[in-house]
Amino acid sequence: MRILTGEDFVRLTTYHRTTIRIFDSTPESCWNHWIPSNHHAFPNANAGKGIGLFCSGFSTCPICEWNKNQREQDLNSKDLLRSRRLYTFNIIDRTQVLTCECGAEVYDIRGQGFQDTCKCGITLLDTVPRPRNKILLMQKGVTIYNQLEEFELNPDLGPVTEYDIIMDTRGKDQISTICIPKQKHSIDFDKVLGEDWESRKYDIKEASAPLDSHSVMRILNGDDYFDVIKDV
Ligand SMILES: [Zn+2]
Ligand SMILES: [Zn+2]
Repeated sequence: MRILTGEDFVRLTTYHRTTIRIFDSTPESCWNHWIPSNHHAFPNANAGKGIGLFCSGFSTCPICEWNKNQREQDLNSKDLLRSRRLYTFNIIDRTQVLTCECGAEVYDIRGQGFQDTCKCGITLLDTVPRPRNKILLMQKGVTIYNQLEEFELNPDLGPVTEYDIIMDTRGKDQISTICIPKQKHSIDFDKVLGEDWESRKYDIKEASAPLDSHSVMRILNGDDYFDVIKDV
């Protein structure tokens, strides 16, 4: 199993817009329970950090089992660990960045443009912004999925894989992302990603697969997620 970390997922942030190209017009979907840190039932979950865990289904998922017990004690209990649907896509991060000689990537900060100088001190005035062209996973909820589905069904736009999409994330307490389609244009993947790009795509089924219930219990009871998945 390929062990995924935050580096494998596209970062949507309020600091800058992110441009993506979608590879998978049909994403993989799954249900995810969010266990916040210091939850009263599982205060030590994931070494106390809290975690999102995929649901394996009502009959096998330990978190659904806990919800069931809550409802047995109080039919109207609001004290539940609900799940939400997540959709997983392979994407190319096409966000324009300045790449400094030191390797740092500098983003176009919302409203401020690109900085003239990198943190390392090298000037970036003569550096041309280029798309990152990095294959990543995007795992997001229904509000983003619905926007993409609407594009797909709109005859003026057509398949979501045929144009870049700007992900504009805004808000302070309530953060939301608006998807803005760009003009249709084809990308020569061999050229921009390298000829082995096909083999570097993620297995979206695997990236949305629930852990077995024993592993889920270990994490709920305090083991660190990464300690558990190296044993799976
Ligand atoms: Zn569940
Ligand atoms: Zn630098």
